[in-house]
Amino acid sequence: MNGEDHKAIPCGLCGRPIQPGDAIALYPITRPRQAGARVIWPSGEPSLELWRMKFVACIRGDCCKRGNDYAGHWDGQSLVPSYENGKTHGEAIAHRLFLNRCAG
Ligand SMILES: [Zn+2]
Repeated sequence: MNGEDHKAIPCGLCGRPIQPGDAIALYPITRPRQAGARVIWPSGEPSLELWRMKFVACIRGDCCKRGNDYAGHWDGQSLVPSYENGKTHGEAIAHRLFLNRCAG
């Protein structure tokens, strides 16, 4: 791992550092956030409606209130998503329920 290329970033909510390898949450850009928060931009895929502008925050227990906001890991350069199209955990579950509605 190259120390110059892999960096901690500030949590978008509490400002504490998010280190490479830490799990992260994503929040809509419309929510209050700290200066310097890393913003995740849309991918440009017009069909990816859930992949809207978001910012990165930590998942510390006193910062991230809902596990549903978990989205992946910070690798020091970018988000490594845990769900397709950069969805959060909550969005991925909601989407899956919608797709499987006929089976219920
Ligand atoms: Zn935080």
